[in-house]
Parts: sequence; C-alpha cells; structure tokens
Amino acid sequence: MDCIFCKIIKGELPSAKIYEDADTLAFLDIGPVNKGHALVIPKAHVEQFIDMDNEAAENLIVAVKKVVQAVLKGVGADGINVMTSNGEAAGQVVPHVHFHLIPRFKGDGFKFWPQGKYEEREMEEIAGKIRGEMLK
Ligand code: 5GP
Ligand code: ZN
Repeated sequence: MDCIFCKIIKGELPSAKIYEDADTLAFLDIGPVNKGHALVIPKAHVEQFIDMDNEAAENLIVAVKKVVQAVLKGVGADGINVMTSNGEAAGQVVPHVHFHLIPRFKGDGFKFWPQGKYEEREMEEIAGKIRGEMLK
C-alpha cells in the first residue's frame, strides 16, 4: 500500500517515535506547529476517524490521552490542542487516521478558526437538523 503512515508503521520510512503499543504508534510531526507536535495513529490502515469501529476508536483515544500527558510534560507546554481532520474538505492531507497533538504556549498567538454568527432562527434550524440525524 502506498500510504506514508503505513510505511512509517512498517519501518520503511524513519520517524521520531514517542510511543507504541499493539494497536497504536505515536511520532513527531515532520512539520511542527510548535516543537513537540505529535501524531498518534492506529496501526491498522483506516482513512478517517469516523470510519473506525468503536473498539479501535476507543483504543486510539486512550493512547491519545497517554501521549498528551507525555507531550505536555516533555516540552513544558501550557496547553495542548488535540484534533483530527476527516476528509479533504476538513484539511486532511494524509488519508490514514491521525490525531494531532499540538503543544501550546501562552502567547504563541496561534488561532485556528475564524468564527461567524447565525442569522435569526438559523441556529435552532441547524440544531434541529442535527438532532434529527441523531435519532436515525
Ligand atoms: P493532515 O494535514 O493530514 O491532518 O496532517 C498530516 C500531517 O502529517 C502534517 O502535519 C504533516 O506535517 C505530517 N507528515 C506528512 N508526512 C510526514 C512524514 O513523512 N513524517 C512525519 N513525521 N510527518 C509527516
Ligand atoms: Zn496507512
């Protein structure tokens, strides 16, 4: 398979590994937002987090929590962003599930999202549509 993260898992490409268990690998992102920016990935190739079965997703989240603590302490960060992008439209470039763990420092100035606002009644309409999907 031509997946860059699968190659890292198989050891065909180098990485700065920080954690490994039977199902999970964590290593530093080659292009860090801040130093210590880590990626946590499942060893099984799945493209998006939302496609993972519940057990695999739970294993991954538990590993993410462990690595979060180590990154925070390891680089002395003041906070940390934990995020995963699902799909190209959401900014996913590598099509193998990965959580970004981005250590944050007071005053580092990064702001991820511009925020908008709703028109009158729009917020309740959208909440209604999403609630409807929850019942399916
Ligand atoms: P995405 O944009 O898909 O959420 O994030 C992919 C991340 O993988 C990027 O932050 C990018 O820097 C990182 N990345 C891409 N190729 C490699 C690689 O070969 N090694 C490592 N360590 N990180 C990579
Ligand atoms: Zn893969």
